[in-house]
Amino acid sequence: MSTDPTTLSAGGAIAAVRAGELGRAELFGAYRARAAADELNAFTWVAEAPPADDAGDGPLAGVPIAVKDLFCTEGVPSQAGSRILEGYRPPYTATAVARLQAAGAPLLAKTNQDEFAMGSSNENSAFGPVLNPWDRTRVPGGSSGGSAAAVAAGHAPWALGTDTGGSIRQPAALCGIVGLKPTYGAVSRYGMIAFASSLDQAGPLTRTVADAALLLHHLAGRDDGDTTSVGLPEPVIVPTAERLDGIRLGVPEELSGEGIEPGVLEVFRATLALAEELGATVAPCRLPHAPYALSAYYVLNPAEASSNLARFDGVRYGLRVENGGGLTDMYTRTRHDGFGTEVKRRIMLGTFALSSGYYDAYYGRAQQVRTKIAEDFRSAFAHFDFVVTPTSPTVAFALGAKVDDPLAMYLNDFCSVPMSLAGIPAISIPNGLSEDLPVGLQLAGPAFSENRILDAAHALEAAIAFDGSGGRA
Ligand code: GLN
Repeated sequence: MSTDPTTLSAGGAIAAVRAGELGRAELFGAYRARAAADELNAFTWVAEAPPADDAGDGPLAGVPIAVKDLFCTEGVPSQAGSRILEGYRPPYTATAVARLQAAGAPLLAKTNQDEFAMGSSNENSAFGPVLNPWDRTRVPGGSSGGSAAAVAAGHAPWALGTDTGGSIRQPAALCGIVGLKPTYGAVSRYGMIAFASSLDQAGPLTRTVADAALLLHHLAGRDDGDTTSVGLPEPVIVPTAERLDGIRLGVPEELSGEGIEPGVLEVFRATLALAEELGATVAPCRLPHAPYALSAYYVLNPAEASSNLARFDGVRYGLRVENGGGLTDMYTRTRHDGFGTEVKRRIMLGTFALSSGYYDAYYGRAQQVRTKIAEDFRSAFAHFDFVVTPTSPTVAFALGAKVDDPLAMYLNDFCSVPMSLAGIPAISIPNGLSEDLPVGLQLAGPAFSENRILDAAHALEAAIAFDGSGGRA
């Protein structure tokens, strides 16, 4: 092929392979070379050799996929960005990854991430921070920072991430790409190293909305390995909509004013005007409990994380640190050396929140807030098709700027956490630039409205002036 195949969208690459203009091995080799030369620290592992000839059979036509480190992949390091999983090579592959492989997308690489997906800047990785390809002095967002940076830089055609409170949408926004968090339960969590199980959801990070649809089409589905998985009621369709006629967009006052950077608000408002030109109606809406979402999330999330992380004890997986002091000493040393600061913070917060005497005051109360937030969305969706907000309150910030201030770091998820608590789908699409850095637009809809969200996002994507080449490394 005369043009560089890594400049094609994944959908474009599939078409070129099918038309016989591009060989699967050529495509894989082009991406492998770029991934192997990556200077952003986006990868924790890159495939050595091209896959066997038949690995690209199937609808995804051999377009390779980069996968967040926390997806277990048979025989391949899967360490969730943590020292405690050093050397862990799982004996099985996560359902999400296996489904994509079965559809003809070979594994290209594992991507760097915040340790156990705790973070918004990728600076909590035991393997070092990832650099934002738009400006290497800045963070790519997190926790799926490696996936976002790799796709934005053209080092992978598309990638898998996970979103617990914003970890697909926020890094997508900060790197100028598309990120979709599906409805909770749409995609199997089997084989995903667990963070906060009632919130964790896998989803695509892609260069285009059509690519996100294509990937979700193959990802979604019920799986006996995950009892909370339900799949989607209808197949995901690659969107073609160009207009928003009849679409009612609600703009929650609580998530589109105070706390959002002026430059981000400016492009957000410009896009609302554009949406009206495309035929949508735009009106304010209320999510009265959204301002409490972060507080509730930072009780529920550490509570679930502290339980999930109890399994890392030096016996079953990865690291073991012994000094002749017996079993308890071995547990203590392993967890002391194996976990980073943020992980320890969450384990302590979560253990406290779940302790007897405090359980109702913290965990119980946070669950009640969660229910209120889900009800807020239900009321909003009685009048609106989608709720729209900026994805992140700021553009990509400087490396190091927030590492010593956990509360400032948590505020990055101000606009994304409410949707996670409600279990509803939300997409972030590139919404132009502020200070020469990408800004994301978030569209959230009722549970299982993925096809409608993708359609609306596609129409907006076509109308918004955005040149992603600033991120190509
Ligand atoms: N930044 C949030 C947290 O640290 C969200 C992370 C995520 O979605 N995995 O919990």
